[in-house]
Amino acid sequence: NADVVPQAPEDALFGLMAAYRRDEDPNKVDLGIGAYRDNNAKPWVLPVVKKADEILRKDPDLNHEYLPIAGLPAFTAASQKLILGGDSPAIGEKRVTSLQTISGTGAVHLGALFLSKFYQPTTDRLVYFSDPTWPNHFQIFSNVGLAYKTYPYFDKQTKGLAFDGFLDTIQSAPEGSIIVLHACAHNPTGVDLTQEQWKKIAGVIRSKKHFPFFDTAYQGFASGDLAKDGWAIRYFVEQGFELCIAQSYAKNFGLYGERAGCFHFVTSPAFDAESTVTRVASQLAILQRSEISNPPAYGARIASTVLNDTELFAEWEDNLRTMSGRIIDMRKALRGKLEELGTPGKWNHITEQIGMFSFTGLSEQQVLKLREDSHVYMTKNGRISMAGLNTNNVDYFAKAVDKAVRD
Ligand code: PMP
Repeated sequence: NADVVPQAPEDALFGLMAAYRRDEDPNKVDLGIGAYRDNNAKPWVLPVVKKADEILRKDPDLNHEYLPIAGLPAFTAASQKLILGGDSPAIGEKRVTSLQTISGTGAVHLGALFLSKFYQPTTDRLVYFSDPTWPNHFQIFSNVGLAYKTYPYFDKQTKGLAFDGFLDTIQSAPEGSIIVLHACAHNPTGVDLTQEQWKKIAGVIRSKKHFPFFDTAYQGFASGDLAKDGWAIRYFVEQGFELCIAQSYAKNFGLYGERAGCFHFVTSPAFDAESTVTRVASQLAILQRSEISNPPAYGARIASTVLNDTELFAEWEDNLRTMSGRIIDMRKALRGKLEELGTPGKWNHITEQIGMFSFTGLSEQQVLKLREDSHVYMTKNGRISMAGLNTNNVDYFAKAVDKAVRD
């Protein structure tokens, strides 16, 4: 009897989007959802994606057949090279297996499901997330029956990294815990580790025999440099870790609704790698078949067309620099304006944070005030999507923040 089903809360972010749409004020500002907007606050179809689309549409052999269970081979192979680097020994030594997934969410889910079935550490099996993290992490992992804790990540005082707390917590976590790490452009804080800090974290993960699980949703979107944004993952692979990677093409290709993503499992060179990878791949294929049968084709074909063509790839890098560059400009403009207004508090973190989001440090009360008084929509934790700012609304937003902070 379905009477027993309790009402679930609305998804906070999608609820915020709906409230924004209902607001009829001409000055309303949407800083909620993490999707890129151009300087006119409009979604941006990357020019290179338009080109790939035209190429695909002209192909007389294109059809709507099923993809293989693991997805489009040209796409998964190019995805490995993109995240691990073309010359990665892990690829050369056949230590990587990859499946195309329903964007990054599907990749996180497939990895979580696989670990829930096959990961057997000697002690309590716990997953550790950063505090805060992308809220979906909690439900994806708990839905497959994995218990979680968090490690400190954001220091409210400095609005930077709570590095010591992070290190201490994973040091005292039960041996063999799964540590979920944001590869770059941490969501929601925009705070990333330096290379030195990554090295120290890797050292503790090694000594405690933890299992690293990388979530990468912003490669190339953060700094505009694909290798730089992939550095942490490449470093861990170089160090010989066995690990998972959940890769999304939503942001860096602007393929949000097409659900293009990839899951990679990399084994350590210490094992009988090729045989391990073959067995892991066989189990992942069964999980994939029972969950989605096979992944959607269109977004992967677009990404694959670009990733496998030198000229289009260069053009994509240029498009990435357009997006990351505009966001960096908006960070500078917002900080500059707040400092010019003399808004109480320090605003250096706005330009020090990176990627799609900034954790402003505004309180829940100030966030609600901004919504009521100024029609500005942002999540309750004070996160803003930088892409929602543009040269037409950044001054308006800064003045609204100034008012909310002073009131
Ligand atoms: N992980 C993180 C940290 C994210 O920010 C996102 C996008 N919001 C994702 C994964 C996955 O998004 P998608 O399923 O749209 O690729």
